Amino acid sequence: MSDLAALREPLLEEEVTQLRACLNDLVSTMALPALWAGGEPTRIVDTLLDALMSMLRLTVVFARVRDPDTGHFTDVMRIAAAVRGTSPAGAIESAVVASLGSARALSATRLPIADLEMSIASALLGLDGEIGTVVVASERGDFPVQTERLLLDVAVNQAAMGLQQAMLLMSQKRIAEELDARVARRTTELATAEDALRALHLEMSRAAQVATVGELAASIAHEVNQPLSGIITNAGTCLRMLGTESPNVEGARETARRTLRDGRRAADVIARLRALFGRKEFSVEPMDLNEATREVIALSGSDLRRNRVALQSQLDDDLPPVVADRIQLQQVILNLLRNASDAVAVVDDRPRRVLVRTECEGEDRVRVTIQDSGVGIDRERAERLFDAFYTTKSDGMGIGLSISRSIVHRHHGRIWASPNEDGSGSTFAFSIPCRPGAPEGPLPGAF
Ligand code: ADP
Repeated sequence: MSDLAALREPLLEEEVTQLRACLNDLVSTMALPALWAGGEPTRIVDTLLDALMSMLRLTVVFARVRDPDTGHFTDVMRIAAAVRGTSPAGAIESAVVASLGSARALSATRLPIADLEMSIASALLGLDGEIGTVVVASERGDFPVQTERLLLDVAVNQAAMGLQQAMLLMSQKRIAEELDARVARRTTELATAEDALRALHLEMSRAAQVATVGELAASIAHEVNQPLSGIITNAGTCLRMLGTESPNVEGARETARRTLRDGRRAADVIARLRALFGRKEFSVEPMDLNEATREVIALSGSDLRRNRVALQSQLDDDLPPVVADRIQLQQVILNLLRNASDAVAVVDDRPRRVLVRTECEGEDRVRVTIQDSGVGIDRERAERLFDAFYTTKSDGMGIGLSISRSIVHRHHGRIWASPNEDGSGSTFAFSIPCRPGAPEGPLPGAF
């Protein structure tokens, strides 16, 4: 081995050791982003300063980081324990901050910091230092050597990327929070508007009820007035016939009979009204519409037999339960069935048929249809069918369909009538959501 070679060998060994240490540090630096993932910018800066401090064995490390939203700077500094006791941190920080203006130029510059002479190097966070600057200082005169400069640049670059990501995440989080707050505000506004609408609806339906009550009172007065005046007239006639010297007993008996008849008529009117309005409160509960329909059919048995009606029922076995006011829906079905029976009672040229059907309408509605082979409905009539007090019957009151409609509407449903396709008779039907509040379905082929 030559002398030169003998001299170079320990040198090479030292370089290899340095390079190995640098490689180790580089590997650790590359692992830093894994620590930072999803972290706060302050945590990233803290880790960077600690890592630089120990890898480069620094005397001072300083970072100035800019908040992208507010534009404010935050300064963070670490001072080696050995120096901390001798030089005041304030003086060190002022010297470092004063050197920041020439940050780019500051590479391997020797500067007096507090009462020490230090080698200073700096690196920019971000391409143009838009995120901030890192300044490192060492008492060593040869600081930074090439490998140290490489480590500084790699570590600061990694931190810049981490900071960019963290700031992006933070602004995304802030936007999401703002959006959440706006959604919450809108939801509250909507809820308030809905409450106001509900209150208005309630007020309107109360107003409508008052109007209906007024109309009903007029109708009841009219219905009851006729038999009452009959009773008064007949009772007067009766008294007169008995009050003469030769009382007309036979005539008085006849007028007494008429009085009785009129009295019964008045009682009938009252009984029918009671049947319709006997139960006022609206109370919904899960119910079996098929069972309710069967009960109504059974109830109408004598009426149907009297009118010699052939009743057929097709009740869908798969009908889901509905949440509704059972009694009120039965009133609707009863009314439609009675009307159908009345409508077929006047036909003699064809079979008197009534078909009652229940079925699903879409996924969340049920429909009840009552089809008859009766007198049918023409366009002129159809428009008025559901009007209160529209009747074509001598003993009708014309409020059954109007009440049926308001009951169905109260269940968020629809009721309609249409002439049968074969030209004789008509079909009345209503559909309601299975649960209150389900969307309304289309109105099939109604007038
Ligand atoms: P009312 O039965 O007391 O007349 P409604 O309101 O129940 O009162 O019916 C109003 C009118 O609608 C009836 O008078 C009749 O003219 C007509 N109508 C109802 N149902 C039928 C039907 N199935 N066929 C033909 N017309 C009907």
